[in-house]
Amino acid sequence: MVKAGICSHRPVLQPCALEGYSFQLDPYIGCEHHCYYCYALNKAETDWAKEIQIHQDIRAQLSNEISSIDTQPIYIGWNSDAYQPSEADYQQTRQALELLAERRFPVCVLTKSDLVVRDMDLFKRMSGSSVGISLAFQNDHDRELFEANTQANRERLEALKTLHQEGIKTYTLICPVMPFITDVGELISLVAPYSDTIWIYALSLDRYENRNWKNIRQILQEHYPEMLKKYEEIAFNSDHSYWTRLRSELRLLQRQTQPELRIEL
Ligand code: SF4
Repeated sequence: MVKAGICSHRPVLQPCALEGYSFQLDPYIGCEHHCYYCYALNKAETDWAKEIQIHQDIRAQLSNEISSIDTQPIYIGWNSDAYQPSEADYQQTRQALELLAERRFPVCVLTKSDLVVRDMDLFKRMSGSSVGISLAFQNDHDRELFEANTQANRERLEALKTLHQEGIKTYTLICPVMPFITDVGELISLVAPYSDTIWIYALSLDRYENRNWKNIRQILQEHYPEMLKKYEEIAFNSDHSYWTRLRSELRLLQRQTQPELRIEL
């Protein structure tokens, strides 16, 4: 387990840019999963492979922060994974959820960990809530290259299945779609029976200097050198023909797939 420092200054709630949410909640500052493509790495305050931070008293702090806002859905899982390994010990997420359940705030949670199943009792009480699992790779070889500290797909899928069978609203986020590596169709087939909605997001990069692009470039150089030049063309250009073609294929699939497909490429 990585070292967990105490953060005493940062609000638990942060503004949220996602449609339908004004606030997101980060139970942790930093993410032990340390996915090499993670956009949040670009503004990381610590080296997540060695240190993350927890709030000094998350329940008291959150109680204070929500006392001044209307009851509304809160998004959890944007800048860090609320069920990263430290959650088994620190229970920052559990404490936050207990308070939100008491105050009747619904949540939308996103994670790569099956630890989320632990909190099913709370999700069942939190009307209007949903829980999502994110996946980007159909095989463990590629997953280990790009997100070595996360759980295998089979564990995430098992969690998704359990949540779905227990009547909790579920979704899957296929993100980031890594050109030539992620097989979106295969992932959709895997998760469709257990997802109410499937969201699909492309690998989208802003700057060559960013840490996530440097990480991806290094992995490609070592393992897929023939793809490197194409990645530079595709990942920085949302109008590239690779994305146009994939969008068209997914729109066709959209008509035949039972869960709602949300194509955000
Ligand atoms: S789990 Fe999510 S927040 Fe954590 S490193 Fe991976 S992409 Fe980033």
